[in-house]
Order: sequence, then structure tokens, then C-alpha cells
Amino acid sequence: MLRFEFFDLCFHITRYMTFVKNLEMETTFMKKVIIWSDTHNFPSIAAMKISSFHKACGDDVKLFESAFDYCDVLYKSKAFSFTSDLEHYPQGCEQVLSGGSGYAIRTKNNRECYSAEFDSPLPNEIESQYPDYSLYPQFADNAYGFLTRGCGNNCPFCIVSKKEGLVSRKVADLSDFWRGQGFIKLMDGNLLNSRDREGLLQQLIDSKAKIDYVQGLDARFVTEDIAKLICKTRIAMIHFAFDNLKDETRILRGLEIFAKHTNLTDRNRRVYILTNYETTQDEDWYRVQKVRELGYQPYITIYQKGTHGQFITDLARWSNSYFINRSCDFLDYVPRVDGKTCRQLYGITA
Ligand code: SF4
Repeated sequence: MLRFEFFDLCFHITRYMTFVKNLEMETTFMKKVIIWSDTHNFPSIAAMKISSFHKACGDDVKLFESAFDYCDVLYKSKAFSFTSDLEHYPQGCEQVLSGGSGYAIRTKNNRECYSAEFDSPLPNEIESQYPDYSLYPQFADNAYGFLTRGCGNNCPFCIVSKKEGLVSRKVADLSDFWRGQGFIKLMDGNLLNSRDREGLLQQLIDSKAKIDYVQGLDARFVTEDIAKLICKTRIAMIHFAFDNLKDETRILRGLEIFAKHTNLTDRNRRVYILTNYETTQDEDWYRVQKVRELGYQPYITIYQKGTHGQFITDLARWSNSYFINRSCDFLDYVPRVDGKTCRQLYGITA
């Protein structure tokens, strides 16, 4: 009898000790995680995946608000090289983990160089997470993600091929980052360069969600069939790109084919035009005119912003504002109070 009582007692002590240990483990390992990102006007996909991972581990996660906050782990996600880094860390953080292209791009002689050794891709167990969209309630009903990574073009002004590889390959299905939201923001560098493009476009069609093709689609891969497939998706906004003049014939042919199949107006179909990278004023203006002729809105992007001249600033102001370029022609546009038109300022005649 005594033996039983003793074992009973031992049993209860052991259970109690296990309970205390579990409690300790819970309180010890429930970390406070803060995530900082430099993508202030756009949700950070990395931040949302990191958040999902930590929440699944039972951690408390929030976005960085102030250096007066407390945390155990701080993540810094930097997408851009031109934004400043976080200077003042929250109180008490024992671990600081940094990653993103912004840390891996260095600028030499006004040229951006990507160095993989300074980049830290997300580990697979985080990369494969469904994004925690609750981090950004202001962007509710939107899903963000990549179906493919990589690009075969290796354009010298772009880091996609250097960072993600020289082949555009499928990395996800839509269901990996979309669960019924009304809008999908697709971030792929070169979806149409992928051998899985038809299947992936079909997933977008089946979703019936409104698609924003945020990055420029590669018009060189637009055939009649591909154009028809893209047009079956519910397009909120589509962007192509006309960056390289050497690809002019193939790009314009693709834009022409797409224009034939779509009923979008130029308000929803844009063409990115890269400037300030080895093109002249005449070449920039030429590309703008060409895409306008085909019924697209040209959207000027500027390589190494801040090193560009006044012409590009004026062209971008006019071109990127639908209301300004609807109200007057660029040649008649008066960008400053001196009253001079762009025709007078830049000697453009047609
Ligand atoms: S085609 Fe687009 S994604 Fe590919 S390297 Fe050129 S700019 Fe980058």
C-alpha cells in the first residue's frame, strides 16, 4: 500500500514537473518578433512569410513601429538599394536577421551590381509559407506572390537573372499564395519566358480574380495563343516593357498582337520604358511614341534615379500621369513656370 502511495506521489510529482517544464518552455520560447521592411507602400512578401512561420511556432509577431518597442528577434527585409536601413533597433533584441536584394546591390560608377554573397534568401521552411496577409490590413482582399522565378534574358540593368537564375521556372501554384482574394498582384520577373506559362495562366483564369501584372510582361513571347490566354484572365492592370531597342521588332509585334485581342483601354495597359541607361533623349522619345501609336500608355522608369537629366524628369511627369498626357501633347507640355514648352526646351519637332 505504501509502495502504491509512493509511486502515486512520484507520478503526480512527475506530472507536475512536466507541466512546469512545459510552461517554462512555452514562456521561454514564445518569442516577440518584429519585422522591419523598406517597402512602405507595398506589402513585403518576405515579411508576410516570416510572420506566418513564427506565428505557426507560437511566436508573437508584428511589424516595426518604433524603437521603443521590445522584441527578442528583429528581421530586416530590404528590397531596394536606394532606401535607408533601419538605424534604431527595438529594445532587447538578441537576434537581428537581415536579408533582401537591397543589401546585395552595390553601386559602382552609377551601375548597380548584385553580389549574391551579401544576399540571404529565405530558408525553404519560410519561403514555402502561405503569406500572413493580416500584417497589412490596409491591403485586404489582395494576394501577392510569384509563380515563377528567374529570367533567361540577363539584361545588364536588372538583377533578376543574377539573383534568381538564368531560367524562368515555376516555383509555386497560385494556391500557394491565393485563397479567394478578389485581387492578385503578380510579381514575376518574366512569367512568359517560362515553359509552364500556359498552365500558370490557366490558374489565373480559373481564379476569376482581378490580376495586376505588376512587373513588365515580356512582349517578345506574346503569340496569338498566349495573347488569347492572357485576355481570358480578368486584367486589372497589365504592364509590358520596351527597355531594349535592339528587341524593337519582336516587342512591337507582341504589343500589336496583344492589342488586337484585348479590349482594355490605354488606362489599363502600360509599357514600361527604361531611361537613363544607355539610351539617348531621341531613343527615349521614340519608344514613347511607338507604344502610344499602338494604344498603350508609356510608363517611364528611371535607372539610378537622381543621376538623370531634366528631360527624363519632364518626360516621366508627362508620361506617367494619365491626366497630364490626356490633356496635352508632350511637345506642348509646359513643365515649369518659365512658360517654355518641351518642344522649345528640348528641340523636339515630332
Ligand atoms: S527581361 Fe525583365 S526580368 Fe528579365 S532580365 Fe530583363 S528586365 Fe530583368
